[in-house]
Amino acid sequence: MTAGKRSTGPCAAPGCGRDARTKGFCSTHYEHNRKCGDPLSRRERIDRFLADLVSSPTDQCVSWPFAVSSAGYGVVIHDGKMMTALRAALVMLTGENPSGMDAAHGACHNRLCCNPHPEHGASWKTRADNMADKGRDGTARAGSDIPSSRLREWQVRSIHAARASGEPASALAERYGVSEATIGAICSGRRWRHLGLPPVSRKWTRRKAGSP
Ligand SMILES: [Zn+2]
Ligand SMILES: [Zn+2]
Repeated sequence: MTAGKRSTGPCAAPGCGRDARTKGFCSTHYEHNRKCGDPLSRRERIDRFLADLVSSPTDQCVSWPFAVSSAGYGVVIHDGKMMTALRAALVMLTGENPSGMDAAHGACHNRLCCNPHPEHGASWKTRADNMADKGRDGTARAGSDIPSSRLREWQVRSIHAARASGEPASALAERYGVSEATIGAICSGRRWRHLGLPPVSRKWTRRKAGSP
């Protein structure tokens, strides 16, 4: 670059490393900041989040702040493939991507959790072992009677996200072992109001007589 003399130090965008050109940013990040109000593109923010996650071991649950599948799992495209965010993080942490193995949560079973660290109990598991754990911990207890008051916060968030993306209330009721009225109450904001989730459109939540 011939204009090297004008450099004022490194670009302020996290992880960039190029020389700053304009208002503290390199030309790419200056342009993105001007157009979008954020110097980093969505992909860069995702990559940044994953890199920070993998390099900072913690025993805490870490909820994925980007795309969520209709089943309530954090998802991301990594190495050109769609996978769960936990799997992507575990691939980055372990350096392997064993086909036929699941990226398994530890005790939390928070579908949004993407913490790949053994400190939080995450590991590669065979599909059979993973399903056995899910059965034991109640994650896959579709149809069994989990009182709605025992839904955990992350489950309520998953239900809300799935409903908002159009998944039928009946399917969610079956998966989580609660009534459709409970699904409706979550999506209208009548219950778990403290989570601050926006009401899902009424045409999705309206149900048979008996629910208001
Ligand atoms: Zn930059
Ligand atoms: Zn977790």
